[in-house]
Amino acid sequence: MKLIDAHSHLNSKEFDSDLKEVISRMKEKEIGTIIVGTDYESSGRAVEISQNEPTFFSAIGLHPIDNKDEVFNEDLYRDLAKEKSVVAIGECGLDYYWEKNEEKRARQRDLFRSQIRLALSLDLPLMIHCRNAYEDTIVILKEFKKGEDGEKLRGNIHFFAGTVEFAKEFIELSFTMSFTGVITFASDYDEVIKSIPLSSILAETDCPFVSPAPNRGKRNEPIFVNQVVARLAELKGVSVEKMAETTLSNTARVFGLSV
Ligand SMILES: [Zn+2]
Repeated sequence: MKLIDAHSHLNSKEFDSDLKEVISRMKEKEIGTIIVGTDYESSGRAVEISQNEPTFFSAIGLHPIDNKDEVFNEDLYRDLAKEKSVVAIGECGLDYYWEKNEEKRARQRDLFRSQIRLALSLDLPLMIHCRNAYEDTIVILKEFKKGEDGEKLRGNIHFFAGTVEFAKEFIELSFTMSFTGVITFASDYDEVIKSIPLSSILAETDCPFVSPAPNRGKRNEPIFVNQVVARLAELKGVSVEKMAETTLSNTARVFGLSV
């Protein structure tokens, strides 16, 4: 594997018609990925797609807003986590951008805590979704860091859009941060990327969403992670090869991948 897309949704219906071609383009370029579930069904699909591909992995979890009807059933996820491709619990977390109602935000926090407990009991890292909710995410993670099994708490903050200060807090809590194609056309992330140590940076596409600059507006796919890596390299002042190696080894370290 030469590159890894740390957060993709190849399990999304946007890939139903040509998943085989998308996968063969990835193989040609030796690009792996972690396919991320957002509810029980899509988590199952992530496992299904990754189970026979040595460079594909899966994360299983319930997103704070993607499927509001699902009632989190820990036993079902615990069972699914036995599949060998499963390397993380998520994406789970808090989304206050799309949820303004206080009561429902409290429910998001409960759901997040349930999934943190599951991750700790399985000794798995978390793939965290966090939008406009960095303070509360940090409060909750600190709670668990201090608690029993706190040393097992670790993971990645996907699509990081926080400040330099939040980044420091996440690093102290044993979390890395991943960046998407947005960094190829928006400069809002430049300062925070420059401030984070290389060892805490991951590259992702979040495909089918947020295509990098040349393909902006079109469906995204994992092979375009190379553009994210190129922009990260530019911002960090290192070679593209070095950035590719670094993001791959960081992802392998956080998620315990054998690559
Ligand atoms: Zn996602």
